[in-house]
Amino acid sequence: MSTDIDPSHPTASDAAIAPASPVAPSASPIASTAKPTPPVVEFRNVGKVYGGAKPFTAIKNVSFTIEDRPDHGEFVCILGPSGCGKSTVLRMIAGLAPQYPQSSGDVLLFGRQVAPAASDRGMVFQDYTSFDHLHVWENIAFGLECRGMPRTERKALALDWMQKVGLSREKDAYKYPHQLSGGMRQRVAIARSLILKPRIMLMDEPFGALDPATRLAMQDLLINLWKEQQSSVFFITHAIDEACFLSDRILIMSPAPGTILREIKIERSGKTASEMQRDPEFQNRVFEVREFMEKLEQPE
Ligand code: ADP
Repeated sequence: MSTDIDPSHPTASDAAIAPASPVAPSASPIASTAKPTPPVVEFRNVGKVYGGAKPFTAIKNVSFTIEDRPDHGEFVCILGPSGCGKSTVLRMIAGLAPQYPQSSGDVLLFGRQVAPAASDRGMVFQDYTSFDHLHVWENIAFGLECRGMPRTERKALALDWMQKVGLSREKDAYKYPHQLSGGMRQRVAIARSLILKPRIMLMDEPFGALDPATRLAMQDLLINLWKEQQSSVFFITHAIDEACFLSDRILIMSPAPGTILREIKIERSGKTASEMQRDPEFQNRVFEVREFMEKLEQPE
């Protein structure tokens, strides 16, 4: 595993909200007849001020670019002190109000201004968001039903996905969410999102409530599924070792009003999450990021 820390210096002032029109993709350095693909996600000097009697600036001048890689999407973790605006950034990409729309700057998905939530973006939260009255397979197939897929077809797909996420087709398909452990419920949530093949997966502390062993198993599962899916993943976590294991890139945000302070690029090692816990180079990386984070959280 090798890593490389690049400080980023967002400096430009907030821009006005641009009209909802396609934006020209950035020019490719290589002359080619192939159309250059715009980045998956691009934030340009994005700010968010929450309204109310006392307006509050949650994030300002947030800028980063996630390129569209031909082989597989990028796995990006967002780290930062509580309240620095991580969920604001994630839910803006999701197109969920009131975080969406931004107050200033541009949020572009595939070169276009972000639109309200749609199934091109999957979302998994920390709290288990299954439908309590539906069986496990029906929960997983829910989005397919919304798309009008016939029952037999969607059930077959849901059962395949149960297997992919490590649930038993025979034992678990007809259980209700309250009959599952926390880890199993997050497996359902992941299957329910990935079955729709989203280009972008948004995950807000999905493993935050799991015990340490289940958490490592879920990290391995997620990486294996992600390698198959070719989607770009945005993942919020407070666990620095989780971020260092999962990420191709970590974005570290400053305390509120949040902005991107650092980008850390990480090369994958191919080891499992539990092997990495014992890897000295990995431990050094975690320590280095933790030190940086602790300085951010210290009062001046
Ligand atoms: P994080 O995910 O890093 O903990 P959030 O994005 O949830 O941070 O919130 C950033 C800041 O914006 C926090 O101070 C929070 O209280 C505030 N905030 C979040 N949502 C709202 C809202 N709907 N209205 C007003 N303030 C909000």
